[in-house]
Order: sequence, then C-alpha cells, then structure tokens
Amino acid sequence: MSQNAHKFSLTARIFIGMVAGILIGLLLQLIFDDSGDLRFSVFGYTFSTYNILVDGIFSTLGQLFIASLKMLVVPLVFVSLICGTSSLTEPSKLGRLGIKSIGLYIFTTAIAISLAISFGLLVSPGVGVEAPTDAVYEAKQAPSFAQVIIDMFPTNPVNSLAEGNMLQIIIFAVLLGVSMAMCGEPGKRIAGFFEDLNTVIMRLVTIIMNLAPYGVFVLMAKLFSSIGVDMLGSLGRYFALVLFVLILHGLLTYSILLKTFTGLNPIHLFLKMRDAAQFAFTTASSSATLPVTMETAQNKLGVSKSVSSFTLPLGSTINMDGTAIMQGVATVFIAQVYGVDLALADYLMVILTATLASVGTAGVPGVGLIMLAMVLQQVNLPVEGIALIIGVDRLLDMTRTAVNITGDCTVACIIAKSENELDEARFNNKNAGLKEENVDLKHFKENS
Ligand code: ASP
Repeated sequence: MSQNAHKFSLTARIFIGMVAGILIGLLLQLIFDDSGDLRFSVFGYTFSTYNILVDGIFSTLGQLFIASLKMLVVPLVFVSLICGTSSLTEPSKLGRLGIKSIGLYIFTTAIAISLAISFGLLVSPGVGVEAPTDAVYEAKQAPSFAQVIIDMFPTNPVNSLAEGNMLQIIIFAVLLGVSMAMCGEPGKRIAGFFEDLNTVIMRLVTIIMNLAPYGVFVLMAKLFSSIGVDMLGSLGRYFALVLFVLILHGLLTYSILLKTFTGLNPIHLFLKMRDAAQFAFTTASSSATLPVTMETAQNKLGVSKSVSSFTLPLGSTINMDGTAIMQGVATVFIAQVYGVDLALADYLMVILTATLASVGTAGVPGVGLIMLAMVLQQVNLPVEGIALIIGVDRLLDMTRTAVNITGDCTVACIIAKSENELDEARFNNKNAGLKEENVDLKHFKENS
C-alpha cells in the first residue's frame, strides 16, 4: 500500500468532503428554492433536476455509504469481543473492566447532564418563547427496569446478531469468549480463527474509511439542500446553548478526566479523534461510527484490543453524554416555554432519568429526542414540547454524536491506562495509525 498516494491526509480529505457537501447543499437549496428547479419531460414522464440530484444520486450514494458502515458493526463487535475475552488470562479482569466502564460511563453522563441543567438555568433559553398550541408529540411508554435487564440476555443469539441487538451480542460474545479461554486447546484453535477474521474485518474498515470523503460529501449535500436553516431564528438561544455545553463538555470535562486519571496530554486525544468525530458528525450515529471509533482507539490511541473491544461497543450503546446534554437543556427550555417551575427534586429526577435514558438510547440518529419523552414525563412536563425543538435537532444530533464517541474513547483510554494496557508511545506519536488508514484504492490490486 502506498502511503503517499494522496496529497492530503484522510482527515483532510474527509473534512474537504464535508465542507464541500455543506456548501453544495446550501447552494442547491438557494438554486432550487421556489422556481429554480428544472423540469423536463421524456416520453411523457416529468423529471425534476432536484429530485434526480438530491433524492436520487446524493441520497442513494449516501445510504450506500451508511449501509456499508453499518454492515461492519455486528461482525466487528462480535468477532473483536470474542478475541478480546478469549485472550483474557485472568477471569476477574472482565468483571473489573465491566465495573470500571459502566461506572465511568455513568459518571461522565451525570456530569454532562448537570452541566446542561446548570447552564440552562443560567441562560434561560426558553423565557420569552411562545408555547405552541398545535404541537403534537406521542410519547412511548418506558419499559420497566427489570424488563431492561431481562432484555439484555439473548434467548436466541442468532436472532440477536440478525437484529443487531448490541447488548445481547455483547453478553453472548463475552460468555463465548470466556468459555473459549477456559477450554485450553480447542478454545485456542477457535480463537485463532477469530483472530484472523478480526484482522480481515479491520482491513475492510480501513477500505471503507477511504471512501469516506465521498460518502461524507453526498450525505452533507443531501442534508443541507433540505435542512431548514431558517428554523434557527426562534430557537437560536436553545440551539446555541446546547452547542456551547456540548463543546464545553467535549473539550473541558474530557481533558480534565484524562489528565487527572492518566496524566496524558488531551490534545493528542482530540487530534486523533478527528476522523471518528467527522464520521459521527456526518452519520449522526455512534453505532455506524463504531468501526472507525475502534480503529482510532486501537491504531491511533494505543488502547489494547481487549480493553477497546469491550468498552467501545458498550460505550456506543450506553454512553451518550451529548444526548444527555441535549436532554438537560431541552428539559429546562420546555419547562420555561410552558411556564412550569421545577423544584430541586425535579432536577435531581431529570439527572437520574436522563442518565438512564442515555443508557437506553440506541446509537442511531434522532433516538435521543424520543428518549427525551421519558425524561419529560418523569417531571410532568408536556411531551408535546418535543415538537418545538425537532426542527433544529438534526444539527444538534450530529454534534452530540461526535461528543458521545469522544466520551467513549476518553473512557477507553482511562481504563486501558489503569489496566496497564495503553501503549503510551502510540498515544503520544502523532503519526500513529496513519499508515493503516491510507489505503490507496487505485493501487490496491498491484500492491495487495
Ligand atoms: N445520534 C446519537 C448517537 O448515535 C443518539 C441521539 O442522541 O439521538 O449517538
């Protein structure tokens, strides 16, 4: 594989794709607004250039890109988690990893939501905004806690794999891996097969990452050609506040945590997270970004396979700091718009439910907003308030997803360091992992 096949690094190419997509999208919105759409008839069928370009080409290519990322998630999580657990020599380590990851994930989410509520109360984004009279939003019933636990265990693992039920896949893979570790020779033979499969899947991840600049371009062009930027007007303060707290938490909280727990320089973490964050931003899905998050943690940040294969899939399912931030600000905003005064006990309730809601939020676009219904119901706020913020949620969803996965990687680094499984030379080396990601597709045949 040639390393110098491209003038720009992959990160730069993805960034260029993203900015170009946003600009083209906004331009198309201007051109096609009202009367700009060119229509022509062929054999009695009327075609519109907007439909062909945006709903046809951009949308199809964008969906192909997301589908190819999602395609990798189940095999990657399953195989890498089996590799990670089957190589464990001490069985107690798994329990330790589990407790540390869940504890830290919940801790960071609680900080996130507390920050969000504090700034919400300080800035009061909802004061002066008219409560809508025609907003309608149906809330879903939250499942009971016992049911959540029961649902984590698969009754049919093949079904869990087919449905992509991440928590069930994690439990099954961990149990299978542990059994392999306990089996001696037969376990080792099967583990060898999974190790090879893992290497092949990671290769596929890098190949797909190399197509990202194009995928990101079409996704952004499609989104920004139809997004209602004018909605920002009345919701400006809400939007800006969520964005501000997301950035604050993403940069400050994670820096402090990383520095305190590991002594490492957070700048390296942020610089190395660029690709993964851009993926997250474009796809608005922690789950679809998982292959890139894993690649980043292992190849660039130096987190061992056994730690990253466990903490990251778990994080992409249960750790949603960005989502909790949106929910915190949204709760305060909706309470203010409807003129409801919440007491301290209510806010504590919001912290608790938003933390749990973020655990239950799937890493796919827009789910955080659905889970917000659960939080609002807990403190008797009108669930229809969600309809108020839906218009600007997509842009916030993109940003909060980038925060969600940065949180996952920060926690993975902290845990790896505490287990003595962080390759610090790799973490501190700014070029680490770059070779792996620069697959030159043009020369692929000759060189492979
Ligand atoms: N899109 C977010 C994620 O995948 C979840 C959400 O907040 O809707 O991380």
